[in-house]
Amino acid sequence: MIAYLDLKNYNRRYEPQLSEAMLQTIRSGRYLLGSQVEEFENAFAAFCGASHCIGTANGLDALTLILRAWVELGVMKPGDEVIVPANTFIASILAVSAAGLTPVPVEPDPCTCTITPDGVAAAITDRTRAIMAVHLYGRLCDMEGLGVLAAQNGLKLIEDAAQAHGASVSSGPLSGKRSGSLGDAAGFSFYPGKNLGALGDGGCVTTDDEELATAVRRIANYGSIRKYVNRYKGCNSRLDEIQAAALLVKLPFLESENIRRREIATRYFAGISNPLISLPPSDAGSAHVYHIFAVHTPYRDQLQRFLLDQGIETLIHYPVPPHRQEAYSEWSQLSFPVTEMLHDRELSIPLNPAMTDSQVDQVIAALNSFRL
Ligand SMILES: *Cc1c(COP(=O)(O)O)cnc(C)c1O
Repeated sequence: MIAYLDLKNYNRRYEPQLSEAMLQTIRSGRYLLGSQVEEFENAFAAFCGASHCIGTANGLDALTLILRAWVELGVMKPGDEVIVPANTFIASILAVSAAGLTPVPVEPDPCTCTITPDGVAAAITDRTRAIMAVHLYGRLCDMEGLGVLAAQNGLKLIEDAAQAHGASVSSGPLSGKRSGSLGDAAGFSFYPGKNLGALGDGGCVTTDDEELATAVRRIANYGSIRKYVNRYKGCNSRLDEIQAAALLVKLPFLESENIRRREIATRYFAGISNPLISLPPSDAGSAHVYHIFAVHTPYRDQLQRFLLDQGIETLIHYPVPPHRQEAYSEWSQLSFPVTEMLHDRELSIPLNPAMTDSQVDQVIAALNSFRL
């Protein structure tokens, strides 16, 4: 059986360093707001090429805190609009709602599955204040084009980089820059299955904007400027020392893991050839980090069952689009045909750095033998 992602197997590659880091943290007696978090924040900011990194409890909070901070700083006000992809993990959209702002969904490009400057431009109104660019599956959005559009319209540009740790631009003016440094602020998730995963929940905000960084850090710590002095009606959303210690063990391997992910993707591109299955487009202009390798087929449910019979586990990212969720019943009358088509056809095949070449070849052979 090839599991979609076997985290036990995945994290075993970091033994005994993970256990040692846990032990040291336990013995330190410091579990919050300590040296592991500070060290990780500095290391991750440097990795992304951002001036500031603020650890948070999870990725959803990271995105929410960015927007809440802008509301507190007077950059936007409750009810203002934030443009989001119609086809994203719902957390991107929940963050906008949680900050008291109004998410405005737009259709993605049907090939890249990411939002485009043209699609976003058509949705801008005089209440729009920000664009949430989701680097879905590990593929960067057109950040150059979105950056120009944001500048022309006085909008903030946020990256939802929860699936794109280490993804970098390989051509144009942003060439060489990584996710986390491509907009005004970025939110990352360290959910265990992400490209950089903790041993529980974790997340962070990266930004070059010092005022924003300070506000995010304060809001995430009860809204306090210092202990018992509260400027904002804040919350408690902090990365803890145990998670930071685990992330410090794994961060030095992120780049080589992403390279391995790309190697596996290259093997899939070369090997999978079945007229019933379409592959994602190759990544012109940026280094995709393949958090997810998404194939598309009108026979998705049959293919998923077929692969399972062959001992290959797959997942669907995602089965129900946000505008069809009860949580967003105000959108139930809206129609997003591209988003709906992607949700009907998407199938995520196993791709992670712990896979062997022979497992990858087994997946290829199974996909190639699929018939109606
Ligand atoms: C995982 C994820 C999030 C949320 O991160 P959590 O740490 O699970 O809260 C947000 N956006 C996207 C695109 C994600 O994949």
